[in-house]
Amino acid sequence: MSSRILVIALLACSFGARADFRVFACEPEWADLVRALVPEANITVATNAWQDPHYIEARPSLIAAMRNSDLAVCTGASLEAGWLPALIQRAANSRIAENREGLFYAASYTHLHQPHDHVDRSMGDVHPEGNPHFHLNPHAVPEVMDGLVKRLPQVAPAEEIKVMRALHLRWKMRWEQSQEHWETLMPDLRGMKVVVQHSSFDYLLRYAGIEAVLDLEPKPGLPPTPSHLNRVLNDPRLADASVIVISPYQDPKPAQWLAERAGLPVLVLPTTLTEEEETDTLPELITYILTSLSNFNPKQNAVSAVNGH
Ligand SMILES: [Zn+2]
Repeated sequence: MSSRILVIALLACSFGARADFRVFACEPEWADLVRALVPEANITVATNAWQDPHYIEARPSLIAAMRNSDLAVCTGASLEAGWLPALIQRAANSRIAENREGLFYAASYTHLHQPHDHVDRSMGDVHPEGNPHFHLNPHAVPEVMDGLVKRLPQVAPAEEIKVMRALHLRWKMRWEQSQEHWETLMPDLRGMKVVVQHSSFDYLLRYAGIEAVLDLEPKPGLPPTPSHLNRVLNDPRLADASVIVISPYQDPKPAQWLAERAGLPVLVLPTTLTEEEETDTLPELITYILTSLSNFNPKQNAVSAVNGH
């Protein structure tokens, strides 16, 4: 009898008072949303800003994390088609499977742009669902957050979600404040034209009234080729662009090649959260991207030059 009480006491000590809620986030942006609702969640993030989220290796550590998780939060819309199905299969976690509560696809909660325009290199075909990089769409993120708020009570211990609704309200208020701030940046961004490499920033560019006039990828999802770069160099639309935007996980050489010949700067912008303070939450990341872009708007520079004299 007394030994049984001792065992229970030891268990209570070693595991703490609260049940552990384990989450597998395919990308850092979804970890950020989960953390905002359940700050104590134990989250494993599969990718980082220096990795291409389309092509992740199903490493043993990721399989183990998936096996031990209560919930997986991923983008869906075939973004992870090259690696997530294998990961789920090898983890063999009965809670996390297609059509189970433990597998949350953010794409199910928002409307995607440009269906039929997203090619996956490994599969060599077109993703019918549309552009899956909607975590940089200021209108889409609150919709995903609403979906998470509905899903969490089904998969998380009751004590973990006690304050979830209050935290959701706080998050929504902060998001709205951020949107107000982004609106103030718009005059410095609208009408700007940029060269991109992939559709990662499309939603945010559109939101800000920025046009991606050319893409270094010959087709969505395919890496730049010399012949395509030559076509870009000779395209009259290049004259309107003020900057070439690429991501930290992309080879900078094609952008640098074009930059030297076209006399354009290259701007490397993270497509997801980093450990750096200015980009370690989703609202801060969006602010950082918009602010960085505004520094390359020629209209903006013309105004500062006039003011400087
Ligand atoms: Zn993509």
